[in-house]
Amino acid sequence: MLFENLRSAQRAEDLAVEMRTLASELYPICRSITGNGVRHTFDLLGRWIPLQRHEVPSGTRVFDWEVPDEWNIADAYIADAEQRRIVDLRRHSLHVVSYSIPVRATMTLAQLQSHLHSLPDHPDRIPYRTSYYERSWGFCLRHEDRLRLGPGPYEVVIDSKLEPGNLTYAECIVPGTTGRHGIVYTHSCHPSLANDNLSGLVVAAALARAMLQERTRLTWHFVFGPGTIGSLAWLSRNESMLVRLRTGLVLGLLGDSAALTYKRSRRSDSVTDRTAELILPQVAPDARVVNFEPYGYDERQFCSPGFDLPVGRLTRSAQSGFPEYHSSADDLTLLESGRLGESLRAAAMLMAALDVDRVPVNQSPKGEPRLGKRGLYSAVGGQAPKDFERALLWVLNQGDGSRTLVDIARRSGLPLDLLDRAAAALEAAELVRCPHDEPSATRSATP
Ligand code: ZN
Repeated sequence: MLFENLRSAQRAEDLAVEMRTLASELYPICRSITGNGVRHTFDLLGRWIPLQRHEVPSGTRVFDWEVPDEWNIADAYIADAEQRRIVDLRRHSLHVVSYSIPVRATMTLAQLQSHLHSLPDHPDRIPYRTSYYERSWGFCLRHEDRLRLGPGPYEVVIDSKLEPGNLTYAECIVPGTTGRHGIVYTHSCHPSLANDNLSGLVVAAALARAMLQERTRLTWHFVFGPGTIGSLAWLSRNESMLVRLRTGLVLGLLGDSAALTYKRSRRSDSVTDRTAELILPQVAPDARVVNFEPYGYDERQFCSPGFDLPVGRLTRSAQSGFPEYHSSADDLTLLESGRLGESLRAAAMLMAALDVDRVPVNQSPKGEPRLGKRGLYSAVGGQAPKDFERALLWVLNQGDGSRTLVDIARRSGLPLDLLDRAAAALEAAELVRCPHDEPSATRSATP
């Protein structure tokens, strides 16, 4: 199975140190759903993994949505009469409301108030605010700083551009040996927020980098794009492939202190859901599996009824379930190496299981086939013959085309990697075929 070296918690934690370094490079960048902050992010990610970039022009229809104008920002500040910058984008990318239109004005505090956002309950945090689909502008600041503002006047500058351009998303494709596909989607649109965005980006990048060294059965698509409009753009450009999509994961919020959590797909018993239920407790004993709800991240799009894909979400908190959510308190201190390492290992083990999983079909289903005359006893080699023999019998018995190896592991209690080896031996002896998962397969339903 894949990712043998990621089975060690120590190895995963070592990689988490590298992931934190990448996150700290990405942290200061002023990202949004479009613009050069996203491209700069992909420049840095591109040092880890090969990325294909896609530029989708503003105005492109994607289902019921439209790709918005591209937003770029050079500078933004509020300065007092002595030209001291009281609020300054250069100090923190959260200080400006994302997608703010250009402004250059002199205003009193009273005129400015409706454009200011702060958190009275957390006066030391800068909030994160966006205005993607309504033209407006604003600043976000610490409430304690807001209370200190005098009556003004202030120089107010937002040096932004909002005009036709492109939406940028990036994809790293790891080609597999079968005609089936898997997707890992993580959003790339948040500015200086660590858990909400960067944790998903760096875990996905580490997975892709490790997977490029492996031989996979599925063709894996690691997609980095903005929330909602990005996954919709990817879906609209890949719709003809979706019939061959076997599984998928949305990654996000993987650094905070909540227990590792898998959110089921809309189907609730898809292959991804069944595999997560089997694998996650093996990696993290306190792992939770929660039911689907139509609120969250991009699983909302993959699991909309017109697609209804077997895509779940690996996360820790629910999106607003950690206290630092969408504020400057969501900083790099939340990305603790042990948790990031555990998240990486859980995602890797889950994907390894999903990649090896397949639907065995017994080619000699009337009675038990004679294993001895096919040399399957001698193929046992150095391992405990009893377990391997039992695995052969389980695969043959359950191999009616309706169950996957993961289902057989759940029912038999045998390890998935043992069942994988048994199935491979039966395939080599032509007692089992996996017609959905053979290289020639291009179209098949997902059991
Ligand atoms: Zn968010």
